[in-house]
This record gives sequence, C-alpha cells and structure tokens, in this order.
Amino acid sequence: MSTTETQWKTIIEPFKIKSVEPLGFSSRTERKKLLERAGYNLFNIPADKVLIDYLTDSGTNAMSSAQWSAVMRGDESYAGARSFFVFESAIQKITGYKKVIPVHQGRAAERILFAVIGGPGKYVLANTLFDTTRANVEGSGSVAVDLPVKSAGEFQTQAPFKGNMDLKALEQTINDVGAQRVALVLMTVTNNAMGGQPASIENLKGVRKICSRYRLPFLLDAARFAENAYLIKMREPACRSLSIPEIARRMFDLADGCLVSAKKDGLTNIGGFMALNNEEWVRKAKEILILGEGFPTYGGLAGRDLEAIARGLEEVLDEEYLKYRIRSVEYLGKGLKKAGVPIVEPPGGHAIYVDVRSFLPHIPPYQFPGQALACALYLEAGIRSFEIGSLSMGSGTIESGQFTPAKMELLRLAMPRRVYTQSHIDFTIEVFGKLAAEKKKIHGLRLINDSKTLRHFTARLSPLP
Ligand SMILES: *Cc1c(COP(=O)(O)O)cnc(C)c1O
Repeated sequence: MSTTETQWKTIIEPFKIKSVEPLGFSSRTERKKLLERAGYNLFNIPADKVLIDYLTDSGTNAMSSAQWSAVMRGDESYAGARSFFVFESAIQKITGYKKVIPVHQGRAAERILFAVIGGPGKYVLANTLFDTTRANVEGSGSVAVDLPVKSAGEFQTQAPFKGNMDLKALEQTINDVGAQRVALVLMTVTNNAMGGQPASIENLKGVRKICSRYRLPFLLDAARFAENAYLIKMREPACRSLSIPEIARRMFDLADGCLVSAKKDGLTNIGGFMALNNEEWVRKAKEILILGEGFPTYGGLAGRDLEAIARGLEEVLDEEYLKYRIRSVEYLGKGLKKAGVPIVEPPGGHAIYVDVRSFLPHIPPYQFPGQALACALYLEAGIRSFEIGSLSMGSGTIESGQFTPAKMELLRLAMPRRVYTQSHIDFTIEVFGKLAAEKKKIHGLRLINDSKTLRHFTARLSPLP
C-alpha cells in the first residue's frame, strides 16, 4: 500500500496507537454548572471536563514513538549540546537556510526579530499577520499591514489559494509608504488568521519578484509549512509531480528565512525557531536571545525538545500523514455541511470554521452568536471550540453604547494532529446535526465584564432568556 495505489476510497489514520489517554466524560447537569461557574467562557473549563477539544491545534499534537525515544536521547549540556546539531541539521536540510536559532515558541522569534529589524516609522507587509506577530510588530513601534487577496474574505467562494498576498496591493503599498520604510515582507503559510488557507508557489514567486525589485527582505511565517506544501501539491497543477519535501524547499527557496512555531507542524508540544541567511540579523538576534531565552544552542528549550522537534519536522513531511491530516479536516467540513451547518469554504489545513452569522441569524452580533454556539456545543456534548467573532475581535458592549461588531462571526474547530480518529469526528458531526435541528433554542449572551485587550480570555458572560 502506498499513495500510488489510488483505488481505495477510505483514507485511514496512518498510525496505530501505543499509548492512550481517557476522554473527559461528564453529565449534562455537570456541564451546565461548569458553564455557569466559567462565566460562559470555555477558557475557564478544566480540560478534563472536555470530551473532544478543538480549542486549538497549537501544542496539542500527539508525538510518535520515534519522537518519544528521541526525547531519551536529548543531550542537556548547556552549550554545544549534540541535540542542537541534530535540530540544526534537520532544519537546514528542510529549509536550506544557513543559520538556525531555537526559541521556546513562535512568538519569542517574533519578539526578537522585530527588536532587530522593527521600530518606529517602519512597516511590515503581510498576506495576514497572526495576532501575536502583529502584536510584536506593533510592540516594536512599527506598523503592520495585511494585504490578503480579495477572495480571503469571501466565505462561499471556492478559490484554491485564499492564503495568497494581493500582489498589486503589495506593490502599491510599497510605493505609498516608500521602500526604505518597509522593514519586512512576511507571508504566513498557511494563512492562520484567514482560515488556514494556503498560498501558492506562483504567489510566493510574485512576492519574491517584488521584494527583489525593491530590495526588501522576505520571510515566511512557516508554522504550517507542511500543510501548505501538501495543499500546493493538491491544488497547483505545476507542482503535482513534486514530492512534499521538494515543494517545501521551493517555498523556502523563494524567501530569505523563516519564523516557525514548532507547536503546529513541528508535531511537538512546545518550541520554535528562526532560520535565516542574513548574518547581521543573526548576530543581533543572538544577543537578544541570550537575554531572554538562553544560550544559542538551546534557546529556551531542553535538549529533549530539540530532538523531538527535529524528528517531528521529518515526520510531518510524510505524504501519507498529510493525506490523512488534510482529509480529516475536509471530512469534518463535509459532514457539517451535510448536517446543515454552513462553513467557510474551502476547508483549510488545520481547522473548520462555522459561519455562525448564517447558521444563527436570530442572534444579533451584540449577543455574541459565535460564543453562544460554542457554549451550546459544550453543553450538548462537552465539545470545546473557539469563537472568532464579536467577543474576541469586536469591542465594547451594546449596554455601554460603544459596541463595535467584528467583521465576521465564526466558530473555529481546530484539529489537534494525530489525536482524534474518524469516530470522534463522526460524533462531532452528529452533535452539530442535533444543534442544527434545534437551533432556535440557542440564545445569545450578555457580556458582564469587559476589558480592553484580548477580552475573550478573561470575559465573563451570562445567558439571555
Ligand atoms: C501559533 C502561531 C504563531 C505564534 O507561535 P506560538 O508558538 O504560539 O508562540 C505565529 N504565527 C503563526 C502563523 C502561528 O500559527
């Protein structure tokens, strides 16, 4: 059996299970109490009271037996650890970049990079910046500008590469602000903030061309580089016959370096790195690294983490794995649609987004329909999800007269890697089927305490009658 034998319709989980963890079963009465106690905020629910957890795909990966044995090989020497060289060469082999700097997670790489190249009066242009990346750009005093293609904001369009950059807008913005003020052009692959949608090789080539013309540095925010590479293989005809590592290498070859959170396609639970060719940046980054993260051969990680990441980066490029991965996300999406639940099209690499505005039109934005659905899903079956709508992205409340809704009301179901099987997904679809049949019973919520930044983490809400 291999990917070349295409006669089988059923795509199977490409692993067998060696170690298991029980799910957190609970009764409806218990969940009702837990929701009240949690202020209808699922961040306040203890994880062992969650049956299936789609809160995030970050750091929730299951490691392989080979990764766990690599953990035992970890060299915990302070400087020059063998594990660093294993880590470094795995990343150099995949990316082709010269210098590798480990960090404890992606945002540490962002903080360090923008301390080196950011600062007041500068601009960072991107397809769309992830929220921590934007915060670190702005934290350095620079201005962050998102330039996604138009189709990225259209939920029903079936475009293959909604993660692309709008090349015309990129060139226009460079001319408007002046090339000398652009610190960096960054492509997030896949585009996390825009639904985990991929960017094409053709688009990356377009960005490269513009960056070369204006002599601008171009980096990838490559947390989901393998998922992006697989979606390129599926959707970009010119790349169909290339292997996944070849496509990944083409992506990296078009840029000058990358920032990576290893908590996604690193198939680990913690870690990150930056890989760069610019020696001057590397020299300055290492100085900051030592202040906040640690010596450059461990950068805030244990030797065993470096080993697990090196092995994870190799495993994530396996086509059988990626086929299962992308297929499971798509399977959830198709099942939800069949159950009468509208989703953002097409399914992305790591998550399905329910279009709550069309699913629950009877709940107005100021009653937080996405959060209302997240709570209903938890109450019904203990399933945890994440609201991306007027609670996390909007501001103010209707009571204060200052309410600004978000552009969209979505519910994200992010899929941990290698953690759940098809029956977990079938169960999720069944639960949504019940919610769809009784959706009029789902009521809005009222925000009791508001805070200015990232309020979804601390918010407390109460149900409306
Ligand atoms: C998760 C993520 C980050 C931040 O990484 P952390 O490991 O969570 O600090 C940055 N960019 C993208 C695209 C991400 O998905």
